[in-house]
Amino acid sequence: MQNQDFDQDSTGMYSEADHEHAVISTFDLFSIGIGPSSSHTVGPMRAGAIFVADLVEAGLLLKVDRIIVHLYGSLALTGEGHMTPSALLLGLESADVETVDTSYVPKRFDEIKATKKLFLGHGLPGNTGKEVSFNYERDFVWKWGQKLPLHSNGMRLTVYDDQGDVLATNDMFSVGGGFVVNGALSISPTSSPDSNDRSDLASAEPGDSGHHPADLAENIYYKETHRANAAGDRRTGSGVKNFNNTTEKTDNLLEDTLGSSSGTMSPVISGTADVDVTSERATKSQQPPYPFSDAASLLNLCHKHQLTIAQLVFENEKSFGYSENDIYRKLFRLWGVMDSSILEGVQAPRDSTLPGSLKLHRRAPALYSRLTRGLYSSQNDNDKGLKSLAQPSSAKTDTSLPSVPDTALSQGQVSLWRRQTQTVHGSFDHPIMPSPSRRTTLAAMDYLTVYAIAVNETNAAGGRIVTAPTNGAAGIIPAVLKYVVEFVSDDPERDIATFLLTAAAIGMLYKRGATISAAEGGCMAEVGVACSMAAGAFAACMGAKPETIEQAAEIGIEHNLGLTCDPIGGLVQAPCIERNALGAVKAISSANLALSGDSGTQKVRLDDAIRAMRLTAKGMRDEFKETSLSGLATSVPFKIPVSVPDC
Ligand code: SF4
Repeated sequence: MQNQDFDQDSTGMYSEADHEHAVISTFDLFSIGIGPSSSHTVGPMRAGAIFVADLVEAGLLLKVDRIIVHLYGSLALTGEGHMTPSALLLGLESADVETVDTSYVPKRFDEIKATKKLFLGHGLPGNTGKEVSFNYERDFVWKWGQKLPLHSNGMRLTVYDDQGDVLATNDMFSVGGGFVVNGALSISPTSSPDSNDRSDLASAEPGDSGHHPADLAENIYYKETHRANAAGDRRTGSGVKNFNNTTEKTDNLLEDTLGSSSGTMSPVISGTADVDVTSERATKSQQPPYPFSDAASLLNLCHKHQLTIAQLVFENEKSFGYSENDIYRKLFRLWGVMDSSILEGVQAPRDSTLPGSLKLHRRAPALYSRLTRGLYSSQNDNDKGLKSLAQPSSAKTDTSLPSVPDTALSQGQVSLWRRQTQTVHGSFDHPIMPSPSRRTTLAAMDYLTVYAIAVNETNAAGGRIVTAPTNGAAGIIPAVLKYVVEFVSDDPERDIATFLLTAAAIGMLYKRGATISAAEGGCMAEVGVACSMAAGAFAACMGAKPETIEQAAEIGIEHNLGLTCDPIGGLVQAPCIERNALGAVKAISSANLALSGDSGTQKVRLDDAIRAMRLTAKGMRDEFKETSLSGLATSVPFKIPVSVPDC
């Protein structure tokens, strides 16, 4: 504990030093969400659902006549372009970020704006919601230039009764990775269902959220949408707090400008929506049997109990109330979503562009098509172009016959035709002749690249992905795992579980020892951490010992230290999409380096690298941490406004 305190003091960063171990649930670290942003899309949708669940629990939902939403900080600056309003409003309608139809979100958002009606709790069982008037232009308030002190991504949600009196309010923070921190719902004792006395709130005006519950620390382990489902110590803290018990006024908790950050790091706590959890699960919760605080203690436990890292994490998951079947089911659900996000990316129309001012072309469909040229395809929009080239458009097709697959020959002819049209740049009248145009095929690298790009393009288009550990870095872990499943594994069931549980253990070390938020540590905290997680997990699937896994993870982060976050236009697209592809390649290279050496002889241990990451994050200027105020974001001469990224 002494060291942890020292770390916290010397870096000024939050390191969870006040908690005795690093163990969180794998299913908090990896959560299913929608793109493009874990902090600007996933978190706000979850926050909205949590707020309404708390209103139900407090018996207030049916008394609500009006709701006002305030967005602060980064959410206010870039939220509109990144689907924060639609995500938050759909969350207030109790949409589940894990299961909501991604095409329904923008459609329903348009309806809300057009009808000026918001159906709070619409998705709750038994149709127990409450429809209220909601004028988007008036009731959705952008607090540009202001931020709440705990974190840049702040939301203040306040509900009023039909007299215009405040019924309840809460501040929610989307702190990256889909994690949400929220205080206890602050209500007036007079707004309880049994009370008619409203005298102390009579003066409250819409827009004034009244007193604020200054007790966030009590409630930081509340991670579920429904408080009753939160397991064990996550349920700590009061769900409902009376205004009278609070001492600080809202205004005291506001910072006037974005530049006046308190410098404190928020504990990263989530509300992972999980429709399957039960309150029984919560009561079964207990301390993890194998608590570890750093890589050294993790390895010690593995040796002491003769467990692999994955086995150890599996056992710890039971302390969150999950049965073995639950754990398997949830792991394979995560993998299913990851795999689908790859498929969605490679099957997208070839000539489509991603949303946003960059008008970036999707590359995964063409890359995948090139990679699989010569193979029979089961789908394919992608092959239509080839078919049309191989067959004159005037040719008639007999639809009564089974479709004839594209033959390798016909595709080869098309490829030949294409290659012949390529030109060579340079002078032939020169002693150094120009090189002819060629393409290399490095199968592993090419597959990893296309898988990662596919996921990140799905994310950028608002599709469903797994935050791993964030949306911006969501491509690396699925890409490496897909590669394991398709090209390495002789037992995918074993290896999927091994991969995800090992990656989760490594992610926990970063979350405790440094950060997984670009706002705190730049891109090394997201792409760097994902690379490290994937490197260790890949090594685990190759049968590596815990020390070798640790070494792979260390190499994975060591060469990402100092990686800045500077996305162009504040969009999670460039350099983010390619950066995931390179992160996936680097993860396997890191693992291969570790696997080919003598484990335990490395000079830099994972704990050293994590400490270095924390120091690097502390020394990194704010311009390189989710501000888009420097680096590529300002050096690329696009005529687009600089804004804040949000991956
Ligand atoms: S550059 Fe920034 S926005 Fe892009 S992936 Fe890295 S951390 Fe996320």
